This record gives sequence, C-alpha cells and structure tokens, in this order.
Amino acid sequence: MEAGLITYDNFVDDPFQTLQPDDETKGALNILKWAYDAYGDSIIYACSFGAEGIVLVDLIAKVKQDADIVFLDTGLHFPETYELINKVKEKYPSLRIRLKEPDLTLDEQREKYGSALWKRQPDQCCYIRKVKPLEETLQGAVAWLSGLRREQSPTRRNTNFINKDERFQSIKICPLIYWTWEDVWNYIRENNLPYNELHDQGYPSIGCFPCTSPVSKDGDSREGRWSGLNKTECGLHTTGK
Ligand code: SF4
Repeated sequence: MEAGLITYDNFVDDPFQTLQPDDETKGALNILKWAYDAYGDSIIYACSFGAEGIVLVDLIAKVKQDADIVFLDTGLHFPETYELINKVKEKYPSLRIRLKEPDLTLDEQREKYGSALWKRQPDQCCYIRKVKPLEETLQGAVAWLSGLRREQSPTRRNTNFINKDERFQSIKICPLIYWTWEDVWNYIRENNLPYNELHDQGYPSIGCFPCTSPVSKDGDSREGRWSGLNKTECGLHTTGK
C-alpha cells in the first residue's frame, strides 16, 4: 500500500477506500503497518480497553512494540477495567501504556459544578473528563487510532480507515471498520486475550460506571451507554465542540 504522509491540512480522501477487506484481519494489520510506517511516533492510540481495544492492542503489538497507548482515566471507571489494564501491561511490557487524567479531580469537579454532573450535564462531564484530556494528549500528534467499527451504530456507518478528524484537527485511523462483533470475540478467544470480565455480565460496551449499564441479551451493543439520557456518544467521535 502506498500513500504519502496524510495530515489534517492536506487530507482529501481515504486512500484505502478500495482496499478489499478479504485478509484474515479485514485490512486492519495492513492499515496499522502503513500507519506506523507513515507516522512513526507521531501516532497515538486512545484505547478504551473494551473488546475492540484489546484486539487493536494485540494487532498493534505485532507492528509497533513500543506504541504509545493512552487510556482516558476519568476516575470513574469500573475496578474491572483497571484490573484489565494491569493485565494488558503485563502481557505487553514493551508497549507504552499510560493513563491520562483530567485537570479537575472529582472533588474539584463537584465543588465547581455540583455533585453527579454526569446526571445533569453529561456532555459537560464528558468534555472535562474525556474530550479535553484527549485534546491535550493529541497536541503534537499527527494522527490517532481508534477501534471504531461501522457496525456499532448508525453514526459510525460511514467511518473510513483514514478520516479527517475535525473535532481534534487530526487524522483518525480506524483499522477495525469492517470487523463484526463476532469477529472481535473470535479473535479474542482464538488468541486467548485478556478482556474485561464485565463483558460476561451483559456489558458489551463499557465506559464510566455511572453511565454504563448491562443490556438485554439481544440489545444493541451501545444500548447500555448513557441509558435514559439523550446521549449516545462521549464526544470523542463527533464533530461539535
Ligand atoms: Fe462523565 Fe459519564 Fe462522560 Fe464518564 S461517561 S465522563 S461519568 S458523563
């Protein structure tokens, strides 16, 4: 695959739109090889350590052993998520996995905005605890990686391998766009990867504990996120400020 260095300023279109996702990883490994070859250390993976995240970590480790991986640590994650991160650090010791915290501690946020901001103004809470920290993390990076899949939701259906990210004025690379939920779990099981134990308890998509609930057996994979609130995304994958 050939494509020059694509940046936010010169982006025209995804050069890999015609890439046939007919290999074992549905194009993911080829995209990762291209991305790390093109961007080197100027690419960051913002990992949520969900099921897709574990797959992507494992694929990245095959391509870039010292890849920079960031977890947006809101301070409101389930204990199982932190346990998983520790297991992943042990399994892939050469990866540079770091936790990025928001400027405001939870106590400072409560003092400034009142208690349980996530119930009253979840967009504001996500901005403080996720979006702004990612903005800070991506300063100096040309591109970032995400585990988005087209199948996940209608808002992700048009995601390409290489995307112009207006929100963070960056290039967003999504190697797993063609993966199904079944593909993700087949890969995890076949490769005996660690995963968040909450997945076995009805949580397909796992975020902060105040905003994540289990879903019915046949429920949409993101049905349990911000349930009861008019919100489906944390703001990392939308264009508005
Ligand atoms: Fe706050 Fe919920 Fe967003 Fe976490 S997911 S940052 S608790 S609103």
